[in-house]
Amino acid sequence: MIPAIMPTYQRTDIAFERGEGPYLYSTDGRRFLDFASGIAVTSLGHSHPALIKALNEQANKLWHCSNIFTIPGQQAMAERLVRDTFADTVFFGNSGSEAVELGIKMIRKYQHVSGSPEKTTIVCMNGAFHGRTIATIFAAGQKKLIDGFGPALPGFKHVSYANMNELRDAVVGDSTVGGILFEPIQGEGGYRSAPPEFLDDVRKLADEYGLLVMLDEVQCGNGRTGKLFAHEFSNMTPDIMATAKGMGGGFPVGACLATAEASKGMVAGTHGSTYGGNPLAMAVASAVWDELTKLGFLENVRFQGQAFHEGLERLVKAYPEVYVESRGVGLMAGIRLADHLETRQVVDFVRERGLLTVAAGENVVRMVPPLIITRAEVDEALIFLQDAAEEMKSKGRNSA
Ligand SMILES: *Cc1c(COP(=O)(O)O)cnc(C)c1O
Repeated sequence: MIPAIMPTYQRTDIAFERGEGPYLYSTDGRRFLDFASGIAVTSLGHSHPALIKALNEQANKLWHCSNIFTIPGQQAMAERLVRDTFADTVFFGNSGSEAVELGIKMIRKYQHVSGSPEKTTIVCMNGAFHGRTIATIFAAGQKKLIDGFGPALPGFKHVSYANMNELRDAVVGDSTVGGILFEPIQGEGGYRSAPPEFLDDVRKLADEYGLLVMLDEVQCGNGRTGKLFAHEFSNMTPDIMATAKGMGGGFPVGACLATAEASKGMVAGTHGSTYGGNPLAMAVASAVWDELTKLGFLENVRFQGQAFHEGLERLVKAYPEVYVESRGVGLMAGIRLADHLETRQVVDFVRERGLLTVAAGENVVRMVPPLIITRAEVDEALIFLQDAAEEMKSKGRNSA
């Protein structure tokens, strides 16, 4: 018999009752240090007073009204994003998938109104994750995402992640290519980072061939890396950028940001969303943005991120039979396990003892603590990982 909840997730049986800062409390009374953050969502921790205040104040005034009316909170939030990023204009939606989906539409529309309607192909990268809609699964192209969901949606082709030679070959000699889409740091793919020079080179290639560059910063954006957006470690700016996860600190909100040029075909009637940018979402997103842009906030992310990475490096040195590589940038941290181990073993071990982490591709355990984390909590997490290494190391010996 099928469960009442469609069984598309492999769930553990822990249920949480409340959260406070970096900690979650389960219904059976246990406390967990939350380095999962709802998968890089609750960036200000749980029950942040400024977010509670913003949500409650707005809830007492107006929850929702249609985008056929003027929404002052949406106007204000868009202006802040335009002020603080490369973008000239913003469309608000409710999730990462929707933001990517709009970006895909925009690339096609841009080429269409620019006199190149044949340029419908978007070059994407292996190991990507862009969401769960039909377009975004075929943009990612991974077998486990698309299996059984054919016919394949045309208009995407794939190259190895951050491989400039393959990318150039995919663009040169294919007059149907209209854009390039990738994550500056792959999330589900295992926290692989593209070097900043790669981003700069993509920009040059795109300019040479009249292509739009779209970045998926759904996971790596909103301060996660120690910059507002991960591409700010390079010198380039994209034409289009999708973001979501950390943007609402747990309230569902996403956005597609773009330059005026890339948006030139997006006139009235070309896109819409019933809920996108509604007053509740905008009140919370605004409060999150207030915190992210406070003096010293991103410095703390970089500082704690560095301490965390140094700790992870120490673990890699001390337990090479368990941990083989530390990955990621800022507080988007991963540690890759030796091939004979499965991520589940480490994720389960530390969770039973009180630390929440998330498995990712390439045998990587992801750690995405709230950005308000302190050194004490970074050290606490490292001790859980060290305990796991001690356990896995002796397991390796027993089974040998
Ligand atoms: C999570 C994620 C998405 C999809 O976001 P949803 O809100 O789940 O639709 C897209 N791209 C990346 C990089 C993500 O991490």
